Amino acid sequence: MRFARTVCLAAAAVIGSTALTVVGLAIPAQARVADPGPACLTPDTNEAAAAARGGARGLDHRGISVAEQLAITRRTDSLLASKGMTARSASTSLVARRIPVYFHVMLTKAGRGNVSNRQIARQVSVMNQDYGQIGYSFHLVSTRRYKNTAWHNDRQSALYRSRTRRGGANALNVWVVDFPYLGISTFPWDYSRKRAVDGIRVHFQSLPGGNIVHFNEGGTAVHETGHWLGLYHTFQGGCTTTNDQVDDTPAQSSPTSGCPAQRDSCPANGTDPIHNYMDYSWDSCYSEFTPGQAARVNKMWTAYRA
Ligand SMILES: [Zn+2]
Repeated sequence: MRFARTVCLAAAAVIGSTALTVVGLAIPAQARVADPGPACLTPDTNEAAAAARGGARGLDHRGISVAEQLAITRRTDSLLASKGMTARSASTSLVARRIPVYFHVMLTKAGRGNVSNRQIARQVSVMNQDYGQIGYSFHLVSTRRYKNTAWHNDRQSALYRSRTRRGGANALNVWVVDFPYLGISTFPWDYSRKRAVDGIRVHFQSLPGGNIVHFNEGGTAVHETGHWLGLYHTFQGGCTTTNDQVDDTPAQSSPTSGCPAQRDSCPANGTDPIHNYMDYSWDSCYSEFTPGQAARVNKMWTAYRA
């Protein structure tokens, strides 16, 4: 069995090294590659329990301070103003929300990592089902396969992404690779200066039919696309009032692991949004975006991707 219930601190180092450019979603405790090595934890410690999708210490994305969050909001509002819109009008605007999708499957020279066209179709179908509730749809334009073992292992990622990326700001590029994460995403406000690498990377075993237990129903690509559309984690900022800047996702102190019956990790009103696609719960636990997240996505879409 390739995956085992171990957590490697090495993954946190990987996360740290990419922290300035990406939002990442690390391979969960339950699904890490075997061969733990000396720097690994055994699961079922508090730390491992909290890890779930987020890696050993929850260090799965670049830190965005409250100051940067507020700066991004100001920049977004000013961009919208230049398009003759307010944050409010943009959040309800009826722009075209049909997103072209380009899949890039990175195989080893021996052909490992070759997800099937049916798996890709199922992945897009999951995205359509989940984003349908906030008015977005996805259509697969093309699937290209590359035989390059380094690329399969997510090496030279800036190079392979810039060489293979297709479409404009509205195009979702999905690179299917093998790495110590479930997925990694870029943010829409970074597109203008990093357009060559814009998109999401997902572990090839996270697609529907993959073998990462609890994380093989396509929820990873849905979660990463949420970042690509401008959403933060529901636990961004912990129990602060800024939190994820979405009013109807109650603050939570940390990522959710698994799918608990109920969780309430912050003193403010509201139980944790454990079923939200922007938490770290299991794929089977995911079921919702909120109206506030829909409004934020519309605003970000209009400002940066429409
Ligand atoms: Zn995430």
